[in-house]
Amino acid sequence: MKIHIVFATGNRNKLIEAEEILGPSYCLVTPAGLGFHGDIPETGTTIKENAIQKAAFVYGKFGKCCFADDTGLEIDALGGAPGVYSARYSGPAKDPKENIRKVLKELDGVPEDRRTARFRCVMALVVPSADGTASTTHTFEGVCEGRIISEEEGREGFGYDPIFVPEGYGRTFAELTPGEKNAISHRGRALRALAQFLQTSHEPIEPI
Ligand code: IMP
Repeated sequence: MKIHIVFATGNRNKLIEAEEILGPSYCLVTPAGLGFHGDIPETGTTIKENAIQKAAFVYGKFGKCCFADDTGLEIDALGGAPGVYSARYSGPAKDPKENIRKVLKELDGVPEDRRTARFRCVMALVVPSADGTASTTHTFEGVCEGRIISEEEGREGFGYDPIFVPEGYGRTFAELTPGEKNAISHRGRALRALAQFLQTSHEPIEPI
């Protein structure tokens, strides 16, 4: 039987990756698929806070088992920036190309061995109790270590993928196939932990 679960995202790229990572035994339903087209707030000061906030917001709307993803790129030479502010690093327009341009500008002149970075992803899962009167929240973190190169390479993926080379690879995330990225990515790691939890927990999940 398929596990029906709400993925609290409006990001199509995240949805495509999550569907591939979780595989055919999951049916992911988005807020848009349930008729909600508004913004999901993310005003926390940490990635974990944001993930919990997004999942709680969407759970509050529909009362269905639901998870949310918040991700940040932490660059050591920038003191961990952009981190929780990764989406709006270059401004409120959240333009991925401008975000990349800003990172590359700030790292201009930084030697290769000091360009270490990581993607950190937190998945927050809200599960209703059997009688639907309460809920529990669980979080799962996935990290992928790597480094930032000095110009964009590759056309796959999204966001900062064209400038991030995962540890042990000579290609950016945007040069890997989706399957290669998902096998080692922050999102893959966090989602596999979430799936493992759902498979072993006895918390009920009602079909949507
Ligand atoms: P958020 O988690 O939706 O707030 O995204 C944070 C920022 O990181 C956005 O600019 C995304 O485009 C970017 N981002 C999220 N996940 C990935 C990824 O897997 N690869 C590259 N960039 C990502």
